Amino acid sequence: MAAMIEEGIRLGLTSMCFTEHVDYGYVADGLEFVTDLSAYKAELERYRALYSDSMELLFGIELGLTPSLAEMLSACVKNWKFDFVIGSSHTVHGADPYYPSFYEGRREEDCYREYFQTVRENLEAFSDIDVYGHLDYVVRYGPSRNAFYSYETYRDEIDDALEALIDHGVGLELNTAGYKYGLGAPNPHPDILRRYRQLGGEIVTVGSDGHAPEHLAYDFHRVRDLLLSCGFRYYTVFRNRKPEFIKL
Ligand SMILES: [Zn+2]
Repeated sequence: MAAMIEEGIRLGLTSMCFTEHVDYGYVADGLEFVTDLSAYKAELERYRALYSDSMELLFGIELGLTPSLAEMLSACVKNWKFDFVIGSSHTVHGADPYYPSFYEGRREEDCYREYFQTVRENLEAFSDIDVYGHLDYVVRYGPSRNAFYSYETYRDEIDDALEALIDHGVGLELNTAGYKYGLGAPNPHPDILRRYRQLGGEIVTVGSDGHAPEHLAYDFHRVRDLLLSCGFRYYTVFRNRKPEFIKL
């Protein structure tokens, strides 16, 4: 955390939001992907005091969504006073699209469609989140990644996901790690951001999915023009779960 804050200061940031992971029920390589929230909060408070003159530190979380976890997720959000909550599809009906086994014996296109369908399913079970994380995350990991991927190809599923977001008052995360993964675009693709705006969506937060200091604010210099070109005039920052709209 200290290394991230120091790098943030070096980059000229004045505010940062950590979004540690909570993926209940998910175990990979013997590890459960659930942050120790007490320890996380305590560390954040400690650094808040240490850096109070130079950096605002916000308390965020990224929840892995699955309908069967709705009660646990709801309790988590109620018990901890987060500034900001990202909800993400990290699994698809129990399978992890990060692993090749998810795609084995199936058409990549069907796998991607199934991924997008989880957005509405997840939101109908639990929607107490501020934004949906990296909406087209699956294209980071499919066998041909984003080579055959476009908004047009998945229009029905993506529109349905975006309408579900808007119905539930949930925004989109613009996640710049897509550039880091060599996709040549953020997640979601700008066509999806543009479509969300067309449908009436207004809430976009900006994150780098930075798991190490060198990835902090990754390619943020591209974001302003990109959002303007998609029809946005504001980006959003959450404090105490309340959106603040900041002119681009
Ligand atoms: Zn994620």
